[in-house]
Amino acid sequence: MPKRVWQYGEVEPAWKRDRRMRAMLRERLKRDGLTMPKLATIVRVDLDRIWVPAWAQAKAIRDLTVTQSSVWLGRIAANVLARIDREAGGKPVLTPTLYRRCPQCDRALLGDEAQARWEMDLSYTGRQLPCGPECIERARALKARKKGQRKTDAGTEECGDVRDCEEDRQRAE
Ligand SMILES: [Zn+2]
Repeated sequence: MPKRVWQYGEVEPAWKRDRRMRAMLRERLKRDGLTMPKLATIVRVDLDRIWVPAWAQAKAIRDLTVTQSSVWLGRIAANVLARIDREAGGKPVLTPTLYRRCPQCDRALLGDEAQARWEMDLSYTGRQLPCGPECIERARALKARKKGQRKTDAGTEECGDVRDCEEDRQRAE
């Protein structure tokens, strides 16, 4: 189907205009080296007739519970999986919810917590604030893990973690 082009004088639907405006704002901010925080929607799929297939397990949202019959997925994958279940004669239950990861410690936030985090991240220094009492500790561990990964990616044979420890010790001295 060819792409619909809105002619002069025609009324563009509100949802389409909103989407275009957001894209323009995002583009302008990107030019200035900024990115808009995203607030996504993910869906929990409770399957009826089939087990969670391997492809859905691979697409499951990180850190959220996966069981034999339920999985958290992005909207598109969730709809595909639900359709497969329906075709097998099942009645899958879809539970959509808001989703955002903490920019500090990468924890998955859902529902109201995700909404609150997103609103906070819209503010100037919002992304630097922790999401809870254990956030700072987790963020530090995450940073150390990433640092170790970078070193092993670069092709060094030594374990990244050991070198991190050595560096920390040297700094402490
Ligand atoms: Zn956090």
